Amino acid sequence: MQTQNRTHPNKPSEKSLRKARNRLSAKIASEKMAGVPKMDSTEAVTDPVITPFLMAMEDEGFVTQKEDSQALKIDRCPRCQQSSRFAFRGNTGEFKLCALCHN
Ligand SMILES: [Zn+2]
Repeated sequence: MQTQNRTHPNKPSEKSLRKARNRLSAKIASEKMAGVPKMDSTEAVTDPVITPFLMAMEDEGFVTQKEDSQALKIDRCPRCQQSSRFAFRGNTGEFKLCALCHN
């Protein structure tokens, strides 16, 4: 395993993020073609930034951590002040990462 000098080693790569974004928009586009009602659509229940971020993290092998209620563990990010800091588990243990500013 190579050592990385990035401040946060557990960050999704741009490549994973791009692939996840493409996958999400392809799904939304095909639902529109198929005439899926808006309220049942992927577009209605996803976020253009947060959803691909979570997909990319899972693609890279990180497991999103959940509360006992099965809701995703989310904290307010101290840097960008948004409630978008998720908890993950990877090879190095549990860590938190903000979907918006990657803090
Ligand atoms: Zn943030």
